[in-house]
Amino acid sequence: MVTSPCLNHDFLAEPLASIPGIAADKAALLAKELEIFTVGELLGHFPFRYEDRSRLYRIAELSESQAMVQLKGTLGVPRNLGNGRSQRLVATLNDGSGEVELVWFQGAQWITRYLTPGAVYTVYGKPQRFGRQWSISHPEIEKEGQEKARAKFPFTAVYPMTETMRRRKVDHRTLAGMLQKVMDHPAFQVPEFIPADIAQRQKLMSPALAFRQIHFPDNMQLLEAARNRFKFEELFLLQLRINRMRGLKQTAFRGHSFEKVGDLFNGFYHHSLPFELTEAQKQVIREIRKDVLGGKQMNRLLQGDVGSGKTVVALMTMLLAADNGAQSALMAPTEILAFQHFESIRDLLGDLPVEVRLLTGSTTKRARAEILEGLRNGQVKILVGTHALLEGDVQFQQLGMVVIDEQHRFGVAQRAKLWGKGNPVPHVLVMTATPIPRTLAMTAYGDLDQSVIGELPKGRKPIRTVYKRDGERPSVMQFVKEQIDAGRQAYFVFPLIEESEKLELKDLMAGFDMVSDWFPTPRYQLSIVHGKMKPEQKEAEMQRFKRGASQVMVATTVIEVGVNVPNASVMVIQDADRFGLSQLHQLRGRVGRGAEQSYCILMSREGISEHARKRIDTMCRTNDGFEIARVDMELRGPGDIEGTRQSGMLDLKVADLIKDEGLLEIARLEAVKLLNADPDLLQEAHRALLFKLVARQGGNIWNRVL
Ligand code: ADP
Ligand code: MG
Repeated sequence: MVTSPCLNHDFLAEPLASIPGIAADKAALLAKELEIFTVGELLGHFPFRYEDRSRLYRIAELSESQAMVQLKGTLGVPRNLGNGRSQRLVATLNDGSGEVELVWFQGAQWITRYLTPGAVYTVYGKPQRFGRQWSISHPEIEKEGQEKARAKFPFTAVYPMTETMRRRKVDHRTLAGMLQKVMDHPAFQVPEFIPADIAQRQKLMSPALAFRQIHFPDNMQLLEAARNRFKFEELFLLQLRINRMRGLKQTAFRGHSFEKVGDLFNGFYHHSLPFELTEAQKQVIREIRKDVLGGKQMNRLLQGDVGSGKTVVALMTMLLAADNGAQSALMAPTEILAFQHFESIRDLLGDLPVEVRLLTGSTTKRARAEILEGLRNGQVKILVGTHALLEGDVQFQQLGMVVIDEQHRFGVAQRAKLWGKGNPVPHVLVMTATPIPRTLAMTAYGDLDQSVIGELPKGRKPIRTVYKRDGERPSVMQFVKEQIDAGRQAYFVFPLIEESEKLELKDLMAGFDMVSDWFPTPRYQLSIVHGKMKPEQKEAEMQRFKRGASQVMVATTVIEVGVNVPNASVMVIQDADRFGLSQLHQLRGRVGRGAEQSYCILMSREGISEHARKRIDTMCRTNDGFEIARVDMELRGPGDIEGTRQSGMLDLKVADLIKDEGLLEIARLEAVKLLNADPDLLQEAHRALLFKLVARQGGNIWNRVL
C-alpha cells in the first residue's frame, strides 16, 4: 500500500462541521441541499457569477437596462406607508445627482433599526423606474464605516442555492463566511496534483491560491487565472482518461489483416466508379487501407458534410474486405436509410459480382431465412440493414468489416454487439453526417481515430438559402413552380410533432392540401411520405418521386437522412423555427446533389424566438456543416451533443468544450505526452495525479468514457 502525505492528513476530506466557526446545523443543511459534506466539496462549490461591486453609479446615470447597481448617498427619513394588511417602508437616498426610493415590503421593524436619517449608506440592488421616480426594492444596504469584511473584494461571488436554503436565510454571504473559515484554518492547504513540469509549462496558478481567487477574487486577472487553472484541471483529467482508454483499445483487439487489393476493389475503381474520387475521399481510403493492414482492429470515425460522398468510401472499404475473403455489414438507423444505402450500393456496383442483401424488420420470413443461410455459407458479401442485424441468429461466416452510418443513434453497447459477431473482431468504420469540431470529436469519440472528408465533389454549386415569412408564400410558390416547369423537383417538409401522432398527421395533411392547391393535378403529381406509413408504402412513394413520376414530395422529417434524388433542386421547410440546426442542415442536404443550382427556402410565421432567428440566419449565411455544428453547440451547449449526453463525460463545471477548445487541445497534448512517458502513472512524480483520478472515479479509473 502506498502512502501519501496528501492522503494521510487530507484537510480537504474533513467534514465541514469539524471546522471551528461552522455551525453543525448549517453544515447539515449544505449536506442535505447541495450534497456538500467536506471542506473540499465546499471549496469546489464554485460561484456561477460575480457581482461587480467595484463600481459606484450616480443616480443620474441610472437606466432600466442595468441589472444591479451600487449607489452611495445620504439617507432621508424612513416612512412607514403600510397599513394593517401590508407593510411598506420607504426611505430616500440622495447622492447629489438625484434621488432613489428604497422600499421594503417585509422586515420593516428590523430594518428601521438599522436606518439612521442623514447618514451615508452604500446600497446595492436592481433599479426600477415608476414614472419619473427611481426605486430599489429590498436593496442590500451598508452604513458608511460599518462595511462588512467582504466589501474589500470588488467582486462578490454568487453561488448556486436552493429555495430551502434561502428560506433558512443561508445566502451567498453565509457561504462566503464558511469559505473564509475554511481558508483561515491553520491546516488549510491544497496539494498540487498536476505534475510540476506541466503546471510550470502551463503557468498554472497554485490550487490554494486558485480556490481563494475563485471565491474571493482580488481582480479580474487573478479571477481569470484561477478559472483557467480549474478549466485546465478538468480538461486534463478528461483527456487523460480518454487517451489512456484509447491506448488500451489499440492494443487490446486483434483484427483482420486485409493485405490484398483484389479484383473487386480494382474492378470497381477502374471500371464501375462513375466519377473521379475527390482528393479527400482518396485520402480517407488510404487511411483506412493502412488501418486494416496492421493486424489491429480499426476503429475509425468518418466525418463528412452532407453530400460529401461517404457512401462510396464505405463501399470501397467493404470491397477491400471482400477481396480478402471477409464479409461486411452496413448498419443504418432507419429502414428508409438502409434501403437507400442498399440501392445506391447496388447502383454503384453495376454488374460487379458481389452479393449484396438487405435485412430489416420488414424483410419477409422466407427472404430472411435465405439471407441468413447466405451469411453463414459466406455467399453474401455485404449485408445492409437496420438494428435487425444485431439479432442473435444473424451469424456470419467471416465478418471482417462493420460500417455504421449516423453513429449518434447507436450506442456503444450496440457497436460492441456487432463486434461479437466476428472473431477476430471486425474493423469498425463509423460515419457521421453531423460533423463536430475536430478536438471535440476526439473527446466525444475518444476511442475512434478520425478521418474527415473536407470537400464536396467538384461541380457542386453551393445551395442558396433564403428566409421567407408565411405572408410571402405566393412568391415562394411561384418560384417553385418555375423550377418544376423547368424540369426540376421540390420537397416540402413539415415539422414532426412528436408528442402527438394525430396532430402530426393532421398538420401534414393540411400542409399537403395547401401544397396541392398550388400544384393541382393532373398537371402536377404529388407524393407524400410520413412516419406513420408502412415501409412498402413509403418506399413506393419515394420511388415514384425518384423516377420523376411525381414532381413534389410532401414529407415530415423522415426524409431527413439518406434520400438521394439529384434532380430535386428546391427544399421548402415549413415552420423552420421548429427545427434544430443540424436537422435543417440535413434537410437542406437533400438538394444540391446534381449539377443544377439548388435552393433552400426556410419559412416561418412572424415573431419567432431569438434562438430560432439565429438558427435561420446561420443557415442563410453558410453551407458549412462544421460551422453550423459550432453555432448549434453554442446555442444549445455541448451537453446536448448526440451520443455524449448520457455519458456524464461532459460533466464539466468550469470548462466549456466549445469556448475552451484551445485549452482542450493543450490539455490533450499534455495528457498524451504524459501517458507516453508513464502509461500507468506509476512514477513517484505522478502519484498525486493517480490518486486524484482514483478519487474522482473510483477504482477502475481507465473505464470507458462513453
Ligand atoms: P453523404 O456523404 O451525404 O452520405 P453520399 O455518399 O450520399 O453523401 O453522396 C452524395 C452524392 O454524391 C451521391 O449521389 C454520390 O453518388 C455522389 N458522389 C460521391 N462522390 C462523388 C465524387 N467524387 N464525384 C461526384 N459525385 C460524387
Ligand atoms: Mg449518407
